[in-house]
Amino acid sequence: MSITVITPRGMFGASDQDEALDTAMRLIAVAFAAPEEWASKYGTDYENDTFMMHRYCWCEREECPWCFGSAPNFLHKPSGFKVKWYKYIGRGMETEGKPPPDLLESVFASNPGGTTIEQAARLL
Ligand SMILES: [Zn+2]
Repeated sequence: MSITVITPRGMFGASDQDEALDTAMRLIAVAFAAPEEWASKYGTDYENDTFMMHRYCWCEREECPWCFGSAPNFLHKPSGFKVKWYKYIGRGMETEGKPPPDLLESVFASNPGGTTIEQAARLL
């Protein structure tokens, strides 16, 4: 007898099933998160002039734009590119707009002296 366990996409964080957008979101999340967060799975809460990232929210407060509004989990401000996910990066991903070809470079350049793309890739 064999048992097949099917888990929601993204449930265990980064995997070899990730698409390029999943990987981009994970790289950004780990670069801007505190080390104790499981940011490669959930994302992180961070905002600057270039982008905003917000984890899936379970607060259930009526005024919460993530629970009851249409706030994205990721917004690239210069291009207006938006990403939403359900609970974890990679699960139920929806996008609005077109990601700019320099999305990662743009976001990582907004954190001068911070984690590089190469360093973030080692954290996944
Ligand atoms: Zn909420």
